[in-house]
Amino acid sequence: MIRDMMPNFELLKPTKLADALTLLDRRGADIWKMAGGNDSLDWFKDRVKRPKVVMDLGGIAELKGIRETADGIEIGALTTLAEVASSKLIRAKFKVLADAAGRVASPQIRNASTLGGNVSQDARCWYYRSGLPCYRAGGNTCFADTPAGMNREHAIFDAARCIAVSPSDTAPALVVLEAKMVIRSAKGERVVDAEKFFIGPAVDITRMTVLQPQELLVALRIPNTWAGARFYFEKVADRQTWDFPLVNVASALKVTNGVIDAARVACGGVSCTPRYLKVVEDVVKGGPQDEESADLAGKTASHGARPVTYNQYKIPMMENLVKRAIRDAV
Ligand SMILES: Cc1cc2nc3c(=O)[nH]c(=O)nc-3n(C[C@H](O)[C@H](O)[C@H](O)COP(=O)(O)OP(=O)(O)OC[C@H]3O[C@@H](n4cnc5c(N)ncnc54)[C@H](O)[C@@H]3O)c2cc1C
Ligand code: SF4
Repeated sequence: MIRDMMPNFELLKPTKLADALTLLDRRGADIWKMAGGNDSLDWFKDRVKRPKVVMDLGGIAELKGIRETADGIEIGALTTLAEVASSKLIRAKFKVLADAAGRVASPQIRNASTLGGNVSQDARCWYYRSGLPCYRAGGNTCFADTPAGMNREHAIFDAARCIAVSPSDTAPALVVLEAKMVIRSAKGERVVDAEKFFIGPAVDITRMTVLQPQELLVALRIPNTWAGARFYFEKVADRQTWDFPLVNVASALKVTNGVIDAARVACGGVSCTPRYLKVVEDVVKGGPQDEESADLAGKTASHGARPVTYNQYKIPMMENLVKRAIRDAV
C-alpha cells in the first residue's frame, strides 16, 4: 500500500457556521469534516479513507472558546484540548475534564486537537485502521475477534460483531459531568446527553456517535450539577509518552460529612462507548468514602465483562481504577 502522499480532494474552508451547515446540507454525504486533523490526516495519509471533499472547520471562530453561562459552561467544539486542559474556569469547576484533556496524547497533539474531534474520533482497531475489510469497514468478519487476533486493546463489554473500544480520554469525563452535546444542521439544533451521543455497533457499526453526515457538533455544555464536586481521572496506557488508554476512569462524587450523597463513574477503553457505571453509584450512595466502599465499587464495576483472548487483564485493571476513583476522589 502506498502511504507517502494523500489522495487529492476538494477543500472547503468556510469561515461562518451558517455556510458550513449549508454546504453540509447540499453535499453532506461526500464531505469529510476536519477539525484539528489528528485523526483525519492519519486516515488520508494511509489512503484508507479517500473523501472526495474535505471541509476544514478551523476557520470558524464561532466554534471556538470557553464561555461561562447562567447554568454552567459552554465549550466550542473547535476548542483545543490544550485550552481545555489549562482553562482556569474548567479547572475550578470541572477539574476532571481538564485532567482528562491534559492526559490525551502529547503536548503537540493537544495543541492541534479539538474537544469536538476527540469525542467524534473513529475506532483505533489495528485491523480497521490498516484498511482491512472487517465488519466496521463494510465487510463480513472481525479480524480481532478470532483466537489469534490481536485483541489486547479491545472491548470486554457490549461486543456486537465489532469489539473495538471508545478510545477517547475526554468522553468518560463528559459522561460523568452530564455534558450536553449541541448538534446543528441546516434544519436546526438538537441537544443530546453525552451518554447517548456515543453509539455502539449494535446501533450502527459504521459510526461511533449519533452524528449524521449533515450535522456538526458545535458545542459541549457542562451544567453546574457537578461543579466543585470531588473528582478523579486516571488513565492506564502502555507508555507514558503519547498513547491511547487501555482503560481510563472518571468519577464525580458529592460527599457530605464523609458520606457519599451522589456519584457518577465512567470508564473508557472497555466497551465501544464510554461505559457509565450506574451500578457503582447504586453501591456507594449513602455509604462512607472509604476503602471498603471503594473495594465493593471496583468489584461491582466489572460484573458482566466478557473478555476475548488477550484482554482479560482489563478486568482487574478496571476494578482497580474504579476503586481508586471512589476512594481517592478529591
Ligand atoms: C499519535 C496520536 C495519539 C493519540 N492519543 C490519544 C489519546 O491518548 N487519547 C485520546 O483521547 N485521543 C488520542 N488521539 C486521538 C486524537 O487526540 C483525537 O483524534 C483528536 O482529539 C482528534 O481531534 P482533531 O480535532 O484533530 O480531530 P479530527 O481529526 O479533525 O477529526 C476527528 C473526527 O471527528 C470528526 N469531527 C471533528 N470535529 C467535528 C465536529 N465539530 N462535528 C462533527 N464531526 C467532527 C471528523 O470528521 C473526524 O471523523 C491520538 C491521536 C494521535 C494521532
Ligand atoms: S474489532 Fe471492529 S474495527 Fe476491529 S476488526 Fe473487528 S469489526 Fe473491525
